[in-house]
Amino acid sequence: MSNFIDIYINERKKVVPAFCKICGNILQSLEDTASAYRNGGCKDCFVSFLEPNRSLKGKEWEPNKKEVKDSIECQRKFEKLLNQQEILTKTANNEHNIIKNELENTKSTLTELVKTSQSQLVQSSIRFKI
Ligand SMILES: [Zn+2]
Repeated sequence: MSNFIDIYINERKKVVPAFCKICGNILQSLEDTASAYRNGGCKDCFVSFLEPNRSLKGKEWEPNKKEVKDSIECQRKFEKLLNQQEILTKTANNEHNIIKNELENTKSTLTELVKTSQSQLVQSSIRFKI
């Protein structure tokens, strides 16, 4: 990251942004700040939005307002889907544990029944001998 400081010293007139101009989030790390300074967007926006479009549409490509809005909407939908997936995974894990516990309970009930039946058989055979 020291090369970012060197670039900054060479470009003193260029303003270091405090916000990502794509997603509007506050830049919280040096990595995000360096990316916004160099590329015009935080690391996430650069990787998921700016870089792919610039590689397709040219290095000078800048998003218009609609493309920025669509990108933010797309990121929100993606985050919502990730949350839903997390909830579904937790639900599936809980159901798995419930079924596992029910199977364990059934197994111990069956084991008890087998023991009781064996014991009754032994008692019956003893009675017959007498
Ligand atoms: Zn961003």
